[in-house]
Amino acid sequence: MEFKEMKRGMKYCLVGAGFSSAVIGRELAECGHEITIIDSRNHVAGNCHTERDPETNVLVHKYGPHIFHTDDQEVWEYVNRFSVFKPYVNRVKTTSKGLVYSLPINLHTINQFFGKSMSPDEARSFVESQADTSITSPTTFEEQALRFIGKELYDAFFKGYTEKQWGCHPSDLPASILKRLPVRFNYDDNYFFHRFQGMPENGYTELVKEILDHPSINVCLNKQFNRQDATHYDHVFYSGPLDGYFDYELGRLGYRTLDFERFTYEGDYQGCAVMNYGDASVPYTRITEHKHFSPWESHEASVCYREYSRACKPGDIPYYPIRQVNEKALLAQYVQKAKQLKGVTFVGRLGTYRYLDMDVTIREALDTARRFLKCVDVNDAVPAFFVET
Ligand code: UDP
Repeated sequence: MEFKEMKRGMKYCLVGAGFSSAVIGRELAECGHEITIIDSRNHVAGNCHTERDPETNVLVHKYGPHIFHTDDQEVWEYVNRFSVFKPYVNRVKTTSKGLVYSLPINLHTINQFFGKSMSPDEARSFVESQADTSITSPTTFEEQALRFIGKELYDAFFKGYTEKQWGCHPSDLPASILKRLPVRFNYDDNYFFHRFQGMPENGYTELVKEILDHPSINVCLNKQFNRQDATHYDHVFYSGPLDGYFDYELGRLGYRTLDFERFTYEGDYQGCAVMNYGDASVPYTRITEHKHFSPWESHEASVCYREYSRACKPGDIPYYPIRQVNEKALLAQYVQKAKQLKGVTFVGRLGTYRYLDMDVTIREALDTARRFLKCVDVNDAVPAFFVET
């Protein structure tokens, strides 16, 4: 099929002012289109929002920690166009039964936990001896853990944390959640293994504001989207909750939400940005000390958030899509409905009900805008709906 450039001056509405809309909006604006972005909250950047804590002046990650990491060179160059990125390596600690260890599980964690001084090869054989090799093809979180790290490490670092984080037993969760984390038989304690990693110098909200800073982009905050608004536009890109678009008429897709308990401290409270708590008896999953996310700044006072996870109710902010069997069945029904719509493209974490890292969100937004720009007819826009179920 031959694609022609769409005529300029089309009017697009983008719902939600996070990375998806900002990036798609910018790409379309640069091709001569008029962009309106609306968001029900009073700030841009969605759950990546950062702001200065009024009491301590520390830059806080209002909706929990966000560390930018990617293997995608184009995405890395894209974000660096709009902000200086400061070097930042995510080094997470975890507390289990009153002792502190480093994550992801690495040689130091293993040696400390078992009170040994094993070499990489010895540790590999030792952990293999702990593993449950009767599990040949692990499908659940628990099977994956028992198969690859064994019961003791699983119990100390993953079982309790995961029950708190997801509100269910790890045998009801897919192995893919655990596969996000590596196990290393060396002393590398970098949480991520991507080529590029860093923090935007002035925070994510300033970064998103820079992306949106274009004469053809108009941002309306504190504004609720309703479907009638769509008739004023040639096309809508919707990054709000997929079920919300349909007024939850088939039921609600399950999410976990987070509550943050803020407290301040004079000095250095925990010596690192993120301290996880593996024990089920500790009600929160982790404590974040925000000044450590900006190590190039200097602050005497400190602000920390204790993070609690719970089921998302109507009116709460959705964070993590649960994606268990029931949710997937409901998702499939909403996807059917979405596919029948003309003139709406569902994008981003909430629009496609997937747990997306920021770099993947930006990659998909760039691809969506580019494919869209190649289409002749807005109603034939190729990515009318994309989602992996
Ligand atoms: N996890 C855990 N203990 C930890 C850290 C992570 O059990 O100390 C589990 C938990 O189920 C989490 C998953 O591993 O959802 C993936 O970890 P990641 O750091 O990617 O979590 P997220 O970025 O989703 O908060």
